[in-house]
Amino acid sequence: PRNEDYIKARIRTVPDWPQPGVQFRDITPLLQDPKTFRVLVDTFVHRYMDQKLDVVAGVDARGFILGAVVAYELNLGFVPIRKKGKLPFATVAEEYELEYGSATVEIHCDACHAGDRVLLIDDLVATGGTMIAAAKLLTRIGATVVEAAAIVDLPELGGSKLVIEQGIPLYTICDFA
Ligand code: 5GP
Repeated sequence: PRNEDYIKARIRTVPDWPQPGVQFRDITPLLQDPKTFRVLVDTFVHRYMDQKLDVVAGVDARGFILGAVVAYELNLGFVPIRKKGKLPFATVAEEYELEYGSATVEIHCDACHAGDRVLLIDDLVATGGTMIAAAKLLTRIGATVVEAAAIVDLPELGGSKLVIEQGIPLYTICDFA
């Protein structure tokens, strides 16, 4: 089967988690099985190997797992974008709206050089708030987001459309409608 179908078939759907009515798309089976983990990482590596990237940024926390391995395979460094209050050095912060309340992501102010071509990775795009805030952080410290990438898009939540409307190219391996 195509890599995309192979990967999608191995994502586990957990009903009513973390709250009733939510169908959580659990990517941990993709990490647990060595063959699937390799297919997953290689799908990103092959897409970006000739893109002349300078750095890979990953979003707390599942974006760290993927982003770090993809960066290593591309011979690039890795930059963490973390939830508020976790990074020790001087940071830049972006707050964004959640369904109830808000969240903040941060990056070290010296995490990229001006003009760096960055791949931004997370596991999933839902409302798009996290990916857009993370991309804004990278732009604010002078980097260029070459593409945002995730394993899963939930298109019915409209996030992927918003990401693209913000001028951020987006690649997702599969979607769940
Ligand atoms: P958004 O900001 O696009 O609404 O939500 C995306 C963020 O929430 C990502 O960092 C992602 O890890 C997490 N997230 C939301 N829903 C799910 C889900 O169903 N499965 C997984 N794996 N992550 C989710």
